[in-house]
Amino acid sequence: MDPVTSIVIVGGGSAGWITAGTLAARLKTERERNSYKVTLVESPNTPIIGVGEGTWPTMRSTLRKMGVRETDFIKECSASFKQGAKFVNWHKGDGDAYYHPLMLPQAYFEQNLAPHWPDLAGNLSFSEAVCPQDFLCEQGLAPKLITTPEYGHVANYAYHLDAGAFAEFLKNHCVEKLGVNHILDDVVAVKSKEDGDIQSVISQNAGEILGDLFIDCTGFRSLLLGGHYDVPFKSCKEVLFIDTALAVQLPYEDNNAPIASHTISTAQNAGWIWDIGLQNRRGVGHVYSSDHLSEDKAVSNLKDYVGQTHPEAAAEDYRKIDINPGHRTQFWKRNCVAVGMAAGFLEPLEASALLLIEISANMIAEQLPANRLAMEVVSKRFNETFLYRWERIIDFLKLHYIASERTDHSFWKDNRKKETIPDSLLELMDFWKYQPPWHDDFDRAVEVFPAASYQYVLYGMGFKTEVNPLGYSDAARNAAMQAFEENAKMAKDLLRKLPSNRELLDKITTHGLQRV
Ligand SMILES: Cc1cc2nc3c(=O)[nH]c(=O)nc-3n(C[C@H](O)[C@H](O)[C@H](O)COP(=O)(O)OP(=O)(O)OC[C@H]3O[C@@H](n4cnc5c(N)ncnc54)[C@H](O)[C@@H]3O)c2cc1C
Repeated sequence: MDPVTSIVIVGGGSAGWITAGTLAARLKTERERNSYKVTLVESPNTPIIGVGEGTWPTMRSTLRKMGVRETDFIKECSASFKQGAKFVNWHKGDGDAYYHPLMLPQAYFEQNLAPHWPDLAGNLSFSEAVCPQDFLCEQGLAPKLITTPEYGHVANYAYHLDAGAFAEFLKNHCVEKLGVNHILDDVVAVKSKEDGDIQSVISQNAGEILGDLFIDCTGFRSLLLGGHYDVPFKSCKEVLFIDTALAVQLPYEDNNAPIASHTISTAQNAGWIWDIGLQNRRGVGHVYSSDHLSEDKAVSNLKDYVGQTHPEAAAEDYRKIDINPGHRTQFWKRNCVAVGMAAGFLEPLEASALLLIEISANMIAEQLPANRLAMEVVSKRFNETFLYRWERIIDFLKLHYIASERTDHSFWKDNRKKETIPDSLLELMDFWKYQPPWHDDFDRAVEVFPAASYQYVLYGMGFKTEVNPLGYSDAARNAAMQAFEENAKMAKDLLRKLPSNRELLDKITTHGLQRV
């Protein structure tokens, strides 16, 4: 019945500090009674990955729970507001575009609007018919007003942030406000107990660091779970082909240039390019499949894209990052759990990595085992939950490729080959030919990507569902019509009252938002 009171986190990237902050905030009362100790050890020699700029709306509650002021976060991390993602050229590659917004469709918990949209919504796209955010994003508007309190919203939002500044910001907050013990040192060895648990990690200068629970946040190295425990890595390269990234940072043309209120993801011949607007610069990058495209051609794609605004950018400005898509087959082994890229990584198409970090840290904090015996049950549940989540995320990312009708490159054709598509997704695609995606299509009460996300992507890419015309009553049609009208009214109202993204961000950095 060994109590679990000392938690050691190895790694100080976004994963390490989000986990440290979530745990320390949750344990604050106990820690003040000196019952718990949260220690984070990070290498001064191995830099953090330093990319990862798109988040989910969950980041608002993650920061709020840690006691972070939204104004401070926005100022110090050059953060901007994100209301969704715009996918350009994904359908046919002829200039087409659709949005995956962050607001749920109108009346989402009362009625499925997807079956009624083709008949009742005129010429509007699915997302335009059910959600106002396409219109807000097209106008570069913010999701709130200066009078909206911190973390409150008028339209649901997440953030774009400077990943390097974010880790530094969280570090200062965790150390100064939450009492996290910070050690800057290289972990050079892992010491085991007789039963196979980790007893301690040995650091170069600080020596032995003892703990009851070890959290591996060492990024691609996966020092504890992969290196020490040798937990197998399950590649998903045969499903998601992307394995290389080229990233670049670009200044705005001038200080008043608009800041996009959404991530722009533009499909290329063998991958796609992200474009994220922060307060002070844009982050742009090309992810591609090296089996389908040479580095030279990828650089040329990126230069063409970047050249639209920055013709002077040179090939050597791009930072290359290798990606090994997949995840560990187990995330929590004995008294060690991995969070972040130490657990796995998939292409950043839907910004799922930081989200997985947040929900992993939350589950560890909420279900923190009181003793070693309880850890057996908690770790089993953690592994089941996260294996399910990784599989659903893989399905959802693959959906973007199989719903495409691009034929210009083998990359797209290979992506649609049946043998590359998980059975779980094939089955749902068959089902959705006759029924639009809805809540019951998924097993868990809380899904990372709910039915709404599948609707936005499928119908955004021209997918057709042959709904049974006799399956819906007049009352259902009338209620749907009302929801479409309600959405149009809301869009009109928000277009009138919301400021531009840049205007609001400038005001926040000058005056701040109201404290909650
Ligand atoms: C191209 C690309 C784009 C991405 N875009 C997004 C996005 O838009 N949205 C999103 O959510 N995510 C994105 N991600 C993922 C995101 O960047 C990561 O999930 C996130 O930054 C967390 O990284 P990490 O903390 O796990 O690892 P890292 O940042 O690599 O941190 C690892 C830490 O471990 C430490 N360490 C390593 N070895 C030792 C040792 N021996 N001793 C002590 N410490 C050690 C290092 O010093 C470092 O502090 C992207 C990733 C890539 C590659």
